[in-house]
Amino acid sequence: MKNLSIRTEEFTESVIRKMTRISNEYNAINLSQGFPDFEPPKEITQKLSEVALSGPHQYAITWGAKNFREAVVKKYEHFSGISVNPEEEIVVTCGSTEAMMAAMMSITNPGDKVIVFSPFYENYGADAILSGAEPIYVPLIPPTFDFDRTQLENAFAQGAKAIILCNPSNPCGKVFSYDELMYIAELSKKYDTYVVTDEVYEHIVYAPNKHIYMQSLDGMKERTIVCNSLSKTYSITGWRLGYVIAVPEIIDRVKKVHDFLTVGAAAPLMEAAVTGLQFGDEYYKELADHYTHMKNVFIGGLKKLDLKYTEPQGAYYVLLDVSEFGVKDDTKFCEWMIKNVGVAGVPGSSFFKEDVHHLVRFHFAKKDETLYEALDRLSSLRQKANDAKDVEWR
Ligand code: GLN
Repeated sequence: MKNLSIRTEEFTESVIRKMTRISNEYNAINLSQGFPDFEPPKEITQKLSEVALSGPHQYAITWGAKNFREAVVKKYEHFSGISVNPEEEIVVTCGSTEAMMAAMMSITNPGDKVIVFSPFYENYGADAILSGAEPIYVPLIPPTFDFDRTQLENAFAQGAKAIILCNPSNPCGKVFSYDELMYIAELSKKYDTYVVTDEVYEHIVYAPNKHIYMQSLDGMKERTIVCNSLSKTYSITGWRLGYVIAVPEIIDRVKKVHDFLTVGAAAPLMEAAVTGLQFGDEYYKELADHYTHMKNVFIGGLKKLDLKYTEPQGAYYVLLDVSEFGVKDDTKFCEWMIKNVGVAGVPGSSFFKEDVHHLVRFHFAKKDETLYEALDRLSSLRQKANDAKDVEWR
C-alpha cells in the first residue's frame, strides 16, 4: 500500500478526547473534556422541537442562514461596539474548531510562522500542521500566566503572519488585560501581523475581570479574525455552531474554504439557536453568576482539601498542581487517577510546549451534585497518591 499523508503522520489522538474515553470506560466523573452536564436554556430546546416539524431541513446558504448571521452580528455589536456587515463580514461554521481551521487556511501559506501562547488549546497545534504553518511558542508563565514582552516582540520580529489569541484562555483561565491587549495590538500593527482570536469563553469571566474584544481596539478591526461559537454561551457544545468575523477581503476567502470543507452548519440548529442569540442582557448576567457559583463550589472544595490550584479569571477550567505527589508523567498520573480516584482530568503537558508535568486541568461546568461527588472522590487523592507503589507516573 502507498504511504498515507505526511501531513497527518505526526497527529496524535486528542488527549482531551482520550481522557473522556478512558473516563467513560471506568465510570469516572469526567472533568476532562469541557462540556456542561446541565441542560441548555429551555427556550432554545423548545424552539428546536418546533423546528423539527416546521423546518428548515435543507441546506442553508453556505455562509450561514441570514437570520442567524443577523442575530450573531447584532449580539456581537451589542457587546463589542463593533458593527459588522452580516452579508460580507461573517461566515457561520461547524463550531469554532472549523472557524479556526478555516481562518488559518485562509491566511497562511506553508512555512508561515504563527505565534501561539503556551499553554494552548490542543487544536491550535493541529491547525498549524494542517495549514502548514510553523508555530512560534511564547510562554504564559505559571502561576500568573503573564508573558515576557521582549520575548513576544522577538516572536513578532521573526516575521510572524499571525498570532492566535485565546481570550479568555483555555486551559489557564487568563483574561488578557487592556494593557496586554494594547501591547499585542501595537505589535501586530508594527509587524503587520494578523490576530486570530478564539473568544468562545467571552461570557464566562469572573469579576472584576472583563472581556475586551481585540477587534474593538484602535486599528484592529482590519487585522483581527474573530473565531467564536455558541457552544459555551448557550451550553450547546454538540450543536457545532460557530462563526468567523473579519473584514470582507478575509471573509471572502474564509467563505470559500468553509464551502469546500463543510458546505454549511446545520440549518435546523441555526434556526433554533437564533432564539438564544436574541436573549437580553439578563441571560448573560445569569450565565456569569452561574459560572461564578460553580467555580466557587469547586475551588472552595479544593481549598478545603488543601490542594494547590491556580484560580481562573475566566473560562471554566482550573489547573490543579500535583507536584507534591512527585508526578513525572502526568498522562500516566491522569490515567491512574481515573482508575483509582474516579475523577478524570487532562494532563497539563498536553497544553504546554515547555516541559510542564505537574498540572492537571479540571473543568467545572457541572451540576452541583457532580462537583460535590468529584470533590468527595478527590478527598482520597492525597492519601491514595502517597500510598501508591510501583506506579508508572512517579
Ligand atoms: N474546548 C473543550 C475543551 O478544551 C472541548 C474540546 C473538544 O473536545 N472539542 O475541553
